[in-house]
Amino acid sequence: AAKRSGRNTFMVYDEHMERDAAEQRGLERDLLEALANRQFHLVYQPVCDTGSGEVMSFEALIRWHHPVRGAVPPSHFIPVAEQAGMILPIGAWVLETACVEAASWPRPVRVAVNMSPPQFLQLDLCDQVRRALDRAGLPPGRLDIEVTEGLMLGDEEVVLNNMVGLRAMGVRISLDDFGTGHSSLSYLRRFPFDRIKIDRSFVQNLGGDVEARAIVHSVLSLGRSLKLDIVAEGVETDLQLRELRILRCRLVQGYLLGRPMPLAAAQSLLQATSEPAGAARSVGSPTA
Ligand code: C2E
Ligand code: MG
Ligand code: MG
Ligand code: MG
Repeated sequence: AAKRSGRNTFMVYDEHMERDAAEQRGLERDLLEALANRQFHLVYQPVCDTGSGEVMSFEALIRWHHPVRGAVPPSHFIPVAEQAGMILPIGAWVLETACVEAASWPRPVRVAVNMSPPQFLQLDLCDQVRRALDRAGLPPGRLDIEVTEGLMLGDEEVVLNNMVGLRAMGVRISLDDFGTGHSSLSYLRRFPFDRIKIDRSFVQNLGGDVEARAIVHSVLSLGRSLKLDIVAEGVETDLQLRELRILRCRLVQGYLLGRPMPLAAAQSLLQATSEPAGAARSVGSPTA
């Protein structure tokens, strides 16, 4: 059948390409207006302590509400913004907004901001971060920056300078989606990270196959010897959480603990858990 429809397949493929290019141009054009028209907002997903059940920090995640398309996921528009050179203004907006919003939380937990490689490779990144913190009145110790291995393809000296500068200020740096790249281990040796986020794909199979458990176990012991915090991402089931507790993974994030939520809900969650110890909700228990 493949042979018979060979010609057709080629045509369909061609039309796809055409549509993708048009789609890309449309998105680029709309992205230009999205910032000015206030179509972006941030949602916050809790990172919890498996022992105490406390919310330890929140990760800020961008959301785009397009007037016609509706919700456009970041996996769809961030790559377009990167290619079209729009990621710098969008990234600056995310940083400033996250700092301002976190400064208003009822408890001083940290906020984590994701940065795309072009953003982290800016020569004046440290100044930008300092300005955003100062303007918001947020202490540097309350900001985490999450980067992925894609960053390491950039100028190594710029990456290192920015990391050293940010850490000297008290800002912490996390390596996101750990294990999905090609040479994660060599990055850990060359760059001074504070924290590793184990990619969801490894957490997913916990409780199912022994390989997943072995991998998560060795990342945890790697973290202990390198004195890095480890966060398990994408925890969705009780079984996964139980496995992570057995492996003594302290920090977890995922739909089971809390979906990304609007600012007001994050504030209420912090308020609810700032009551005396006994009243604090424990991780994994059903939400009230
Ligand atoms: P990430 O930084 O690894 O963020 C985690 C993603 O996993 C988020 O998707 C989150 O909603 C999702 N997630 C959390 N828990 C679970 C779970 O238990 N199960 C499943 N299936 N998914 C879970 P989201 O918000 O769609 O973001 C996707 C990616 O887009 C992020 O991955 C990050 O790389 C990027 N991104 C998001 N916001 C920003 C931003 O403000 N700036 C930049 N540069 N990138 C961003
Ligand atoms: Mg992240
Ligand atoms: Mg991740
Ligand atoms: Mg990711």
